[in-house]
Amino acid sequence: MARIFFDHISTTPLDSRVFEAMKPYFLELYGNPSSHIHDQGQAALKAVDAARSEVASLLDASPDEIVFTSGATEANNLAVKGAAEANGKKGRHIVVSDVEHFSVQNALIPLRNRGYEVTTLKVDSDGRVDPGDVRRAIRPDTALVSVMHANSEIGTIEPVAEIGRIARERGVLFHTDATASAGHIPLNVRETGADLVTLSAHNFYGPKGTGALFVREGVSLVSQVDGGFQERGFRAGTENVPGIVGMGAAARIAKIEMGERDSRLRRLGKRLWEGIAATVEHLHFTGHPTDRLPGHVSFWVEYAEGESLLLFLNVHGVMAASGSACSSNLRGHDEEDLVASPVLRAIGVPSDICTGSITFSMGKGSTEAEVDEVLSVLPGIVKRLWEMSPTYLDYQKRKARGGR
Ligand code: PMP
Repeated sequence: MARIFFDHISTTPLDSRVFEAMKPYFLELYGNPSSHIHDQGQAALKAVDAARSEVASLLDASPDEIVFTSGATEANNLAVKGAAEANGKKGRHIVVSDVEHFSVQNALIPLRNRGYEVTTLKVDSDGRVDPGDVRRAIRPDTALVSVMHANSEIGTIEPVAEIGRIARERGVLFHTDATASAGHIPLNVRETGADLVTLSAHNFYGPKGTGALFVREGVSLVSQVDGGFQERGFRAGTENVPGIVGMGAAARIAKIEMGERDSRLRRLGKRLWEGIAATVEHLHFTGHPTDRLPGHVSFWVEYAEGESLLLFLNVHGVMAASGSACSSNLRGHDEEDLVASPVLRAIGVPSDICTGSITFSMGKGSTEAEVDEVLSVLPGIVKRLWEMSPTYLDYQKRKARGGR
């Protein structure tokens, strides 16, 4: 049975070229960049600096504006808490969208507890923030606006350039979480006017455990990890040299291959999207129809529970994600209660249906044959789930009686 990985939004496989670039930094070049008085430390420092330039180049940033972290979660925490704390004198008001990742939403909890006020902007039914709402939400005491670049669950790309322009006009810092988009679609920090941008290596064929925060020159942040003076004082702790080297290599390759990957993935996405639309009834695509991540197809099916769909797909060798996957055990509840995904609720999917969404996300290694295989198994799986669904049987009875 074929194993089809259509869950690139949760992570991407490490590119073998990236692995080759990382290898020497495990066994041969093991120096600590802070201990650069000798050759080993020098080699590590040089490698980290080279990677910093490559990551900067992906965003059209300057190398000094890149702070390496352990991943997107840490970068989001540093951006949100660090900027709020550094700007506390200006004010204690923060503006975010209601589709941000938990690493932004939950970073706000301790700030709220310390008296910060948060305005959460609603998105439209495609998952988009209205830049006009950002303009209206900004107050004289607003310290930070944080709106993600693209949403992992529904694929929607947010109008970050417009939001960045508004924030800049009003003299407010703008953070965007580009975890899902970086390395896949262009993001130029000079054009978007973002002051803080979150990146994660494992989302663009780099290693897990490495991320970065772009910090525009002149922006102050309060470090969230106390210790030494690495990363210009923004992030203490010995750098993950192999991981950083891998992130640099992944960024360099992404920049070169982005255009070609994008057109291939858009072609595959269209084939999958059209195929599903033609074969599955009671279907609702989610996210923006055009302003969306390449190779990302998300939807829910009436009367078919998302987790069950995923399990059956996995039995057929197809690995995908459900909107509800990381939304169980919300807000620190101990019990594993399956609740509607906040993103699906935000776009207005009825809450009893919300657990039903599926996200297929393809990657640079995905093929037409894989798309066709998914298309050949999906309708049968949906049909089987309907046959087991009391609500579907009710619907069938109502239909037979001439109702809806
Ligand atoms: N932001 C977004 C938009 C995400 O989808 C994720 C999860 N991949 C994160 C942040 C957190 O990333 P990580 O768990 O790799 O730190």
